[in-house]
This record gives sequence, C-alpha cells and structure tokens, in this order.
Amino acid sequence: MSLALSSRHGCVLQSEIRNMSIECSRIGGINLSQGVCDTPISPVVVQGASESIARGLNTYTHYAGLFQLREAIAEKQKKYSGMECDPEQEIIVSAGATGALYCSFQALLDPGDEVIVFEPYYGYHISTLHAAEAVPVYVQLDPPGWTFAIEDLERVVTPKTRGIILNTPANPSGKVFSPSELTLIADFAERYDLFVFTDEIYEHFIYTGHEHRSFATLPGMKERTITISGASKTFSVTGWRIGYAICDARWAKTIGYFNDLVYVCAPAPLQAGVAKGMRELGEDYYLGLAREYETKRDRFCQALSRAGLPPYIPDGSYYVLADVSCVPGSTGKERAMHILHTTGVASVPGSAFYQDGKGESIVRFCFAKEDAILDEACSRLQILG
Ligand code: GLN
Repeated sequence: MSLALSSRHGCVLQSEIRNMSIECSRIGGINLSQGVCDTPISPVVVQGASESIARGLNTYTHYAGLFQLREAIAEKQKKYSGMECDPEQEIIVSAGATGALYCSFQALLDPGDEVIVFEPYYGYHISTLHAAEAVPVYVQLDPPGWTFAIEDLERVVTPKTRGIILNTPANPSGKVFSPSELTLIADFAERYDLFVFTDEIYEHFIYTGHEHRSFATLPGMKERTITISGASKTFSVTGWRIGYAICDARWAKTIGYFNDLVYVCAPAPLQAGVAKGMRELGEDYYLGLAREYETKRDRFCQALSRAGLPPYIPDGSYYVLADVSCVPGSTGKERAMHILHTTGVASVPGSAFYQDGKGESIVRFCFAKEDAILDEACSRLQILG
C-alpha cells in the first residue's frame, strides 16, 4: 500500500484551540477557549453586507479585494496609525488575517528559511511557517513583563534568518510591545536585512497606559514590513474571513497571486460590509471598543484572582493567561480539562502556545463575550477557589 499522507501533514494537526472548543460544545459549556468574539456586530456593517447581496454583489471580486475596501483600509491606516499606503498596489485583502499570513509566507519564504518568533506564540503562526517549510526559531518571553533584550535576538539569528514575527498586542499574553522594544526590533531587522511580519489583528484592543504603533511607520521599516490585520475582531465578524496584508508593491504583487490561487478572493458582499464599517465608524467606535473590553478584562481578571487563578493582566488583546498551578493535573491539558469539567468554562492549555514541555501551569481564557455570559463564567470559576 503506497497511499500515504504528505510529509508535511504533521504541521496541520487539529489545534488545541479547536480541541477545547469541540469538547466545550460537547458538554454545553461556556467557550472561553477559542477567540470566537460573539459580541454584537454593528448594524452599519450588517447593512453594508446585506445591501450588497441584495444589489447583486455576489460574484468574484478582484483577487486583491474590492477597490472600495482597499481604499477604506488605506484611509483607516492613515488616520489611525499614520501609515501611507497605495490601495492600488500595496494592499491585498484575503480570507482573514490567517489567509493573508499564509499567502505572505508562501510568497516570501523559502524552505529552510528561519523566522524568529516570540514565545508564547499563536500556534497558527507556527503551523503557517511549517506549511511554507520555513523554520521557527524561538525567543522566550517570561511573565509578568514578557520583555526581552537585544542579546536574546542576537543569540538566535543565523545566516538563514529571513524574518521575524511581531504580534502586538499579542495572543496569548496580551503584551503590547513598547516603543523602545519596537525600535530595538527595527534596528535588528535592518542590521540583518529581515522581513518583519506583523500580526496587528488586536490593534484596537488596547488598554489604559498603552498605545498601538504600527511597525511599518517606524523610520525605514515600510519596505521590509508586511502589516497584517483584519476585520474579524474589530467588527466582531470572525466568521466572515476578511483580513489583509499591506506592504511594498514588490511583495504585494506575489502575495496577491497566492491569494488568487488559494482563495480567488475574499467573500464579496462581506468585503463591502467591512468597507462600509470602516468608512462610517469613526474614532468613537474604536475608543468605545477599547473601553468596553478594558471593563471586561478588569471584571474577568478580578474573578480569576478570587478563584485562586492569578492572572497575568494583559495590556491589550482579549485574552488573559492565568496561573493554574493549584488546579489538579500534571499537564496544562489536564488542568484545562479539570476546569472545563468542574466549572463548565473552557480555556486553552498554555502548552498550546509553547514548544514541548512548557506552559503546563498556565491556561488562556478569552474574554470577548457578552457581559451576561462573562459574568456567568466568572461566577462558575469560583468553585475552584
Ligand atoms: N485567533 C483566535 C484564537 O486564538 C481564533 C483561532 C482559530 O479559531 N483559529 O483563539
């Protein structure tokens, strides 16, 4: 029998985030594992999509996305991050930020290329590197500060290093990279001539005392930065799969060809819905989002402390890592399962965000939930205390 899976099949095992979601729905629990984000969607965005379906915008769009959406992205970038980009040549709309990342790696990385990743990491970044036969190289960040020094980067760089992934605000730690850390990464990227692949999907989930800076706006960084973000979290449309990559036209062209190859285009009417949202929802909307989520963060972190699961308070994103060493179990998975089966609240084992053998005494919770559900989760967790 010679039928067999490909040699790279091992890079796409079912993610632990999905495993926990499935187990959670099997027992009818509250899903704080997957970053589903089922908070209400703005009527403007819904209207933009439904009107487009009714008007007949139901066929393929340009493979790089509807021009009206690319224009809206360029305007939003300029207004909120000061980034200038050309909607004709420098933006590729893809099937979520995940699609944009996949196409970017396919376009810019060769087999064997090394890419520096901060750990704890978002597992899809690693699997997407593996799918391009690139090699992740890790720099570990430790709580509570999740900081690093230039020596940590110097230690892992080799002649094969081609890039670095910068996820800020970060999943799962909620770290917001400071201005001095960004400068340090910029100098390093310049010195070793590296691409910087950003994941800025949580750019508007940013809490008091912190600011999001788009890495591409640092002096000299535009041509080496692939800025990746999307509508999923900002507009509560995780299932719509609308994300994008912004970069120099030399890279965007081929990223676009890969996008065409894999997705043809992102869903047409949903692109229109997001374009309308971007055009019509202003600063109040984004600031309101940050305030709303900061309240959720505070409320949920207090509940974790009361339950004896000390949280590492996030500065951004909508996840929180908590220390669960007091929960029965010898691995992160056993502890997350214990929490799920005793309280009905699902989390993700910390080990999903680390290489083998680490993260066993932490779990990640997602607090992107409506307040009533979050309150119910908070009270259920108290059984552990
Ligand atoms: N980004 C979200 C998370 O970290 C969703 C992941 C997913 O379902 N792929 O949970």
